[in-house]
Amino acid sequence: MRGFANWAIYRDHIPNNAVNWITQKNFGFSDAADLFVFISGIDKLAQISADQISSIGSQDMNDNVWFDLVKRIRTAIDNKEVDGVVITHGTDTMEETAFFLQNVLDTDMPVVLVGSMRPSTAIGADGPANLYDAMRVASAPESRGRGVLVVLNDTIHAARWVQKTNTTSVQTFRSPDAGPIGYVDTGSLRFLHPAAPVKAAALKLPDAPPLPRVDIIYSHANMDAAEVEDAVKRGAKGIVLAGVGDGNSSKGAIDALAAAAKQGVVVVRSTRVGSGYVNRNVEVEDDKLGFAVSLDLNPQKARVLLELLIANGITDPKAVQQAFAQP
Ligand code: ASP
Repeated sequence: MRGFANWAIYRDHIPNNAVNWITQKNFGFSDAADLFVFISGIDKLAQISADQISSIGSQDMNDNVWFDLVKRIRTAIDNKEVDGVVITHGTDTMEETAFFLQNVLDTDMPVVLVGSMRPSTAIGADGPANLYDAMRVASAPESRGRGVLVVLNDTIHAARWVQKTNTTSVQTFRSPDAGPIGYVDTGSLRFLHPAAPVKAAALKLPDAPPLPRVDIIYSHANMDAAEVEDAVKRGAKGIVLAGVGDGNSSKGAIDALAAAAKQGVVVVRSTRVGSGYVNRNVEVEDDKLGFAVSLDLNPQKARVLLELLIANGITDPKAVQQAFAQP
C-alpha cells in the first residue's frame, strides 16, 4: 500500500503512480479529501496521499521546517513509498525552499513545489489549476531526473533558475537567465530540454538545525561599512552581498567585506539587479580580496547555498567558488 498514515487518501483504481502531497501551507484545501471534491480529475492522475508538515506563511520559512521537509521526503524515498512529491508552499520564499531541497536531496524522483497567487476565495483563484498541474508533473515518468521543480501558471521551472518576479501577477515565477524548462496544462506536458544526465552530489545536512548564519547585505547609494561590520558583530559566518550592478558596492562596504573575509567570514558577491551573471575580477578584485561570486544565483539562493557549504566545512573561497559553479 502506498501513502502515509496521517489523513492519507488512496485511489486504488489508479494502479501505477503515487504522489505524496505535503502541505507546507494550505491554500484553501484543508486536507486531501478536499482535492477530490474541488479539483475535477485530479484523482485520475495518481494515488494521492497527504501529510501536513507545517502551516505557516512562507515569509516565516525557517531551518526547522526545511529539516522536517527533508526528513519526510527522504523517508518516502528510502521506503519507496511514492513516485513523486508535491509540496504546497507560499510563493514568497518558494524559490529558496526549492533550491535548498535541490542541494540536499539525492534523488531522481520528481519533487514539485506549487503555490497560488490568488486566495481560494478570489474570482479566478489559481490554486486548483496549479495544484492539478503540479500533480500531473510529479506523477509523470518524464519528470524524473530533473531536480526540484516549481510549477505555477502552466509553467515548469528548475530550482536553480526560478524566481518570484512580480508581487501580484499569476505569471510571477520566471527564470530570467535560462527560461522555463517546460509547460503543463490539462492537455499536455512538454519539457523543453532533455533531463540532466548527471546529478551533482547532494550536500549533507547537519543532524539538527540551525544552519550557520549567513546574512544578505543590500548595496545602495551612499553606503558605508556599517551594515557589513554589524553582520560580523552579530556572528555571521557568511555574507552575501546583494550588490549593485555586477555585484559591486561602495569602497567602504567592499573594504569592510575584505576585512571580514580576512577574519574567516565567507563572502559571496551577488547582485540586486534580478538577472544576469556576477563575474569574477571585473570591477572587484575577488582573487586579491578573497571573495567568491554567485554567478547566476540571486542573493537569496546564494545565501541558501552558502549556509549549506559552511555547514559542510567548505569555506575556502576557491572551493566555495567551485561549488557555486555546479549546476
Ligand atoms: N505571503 C504568502 C506566502 O508566501 C504569499 C503566498 O501565499 O503566496 O506564504
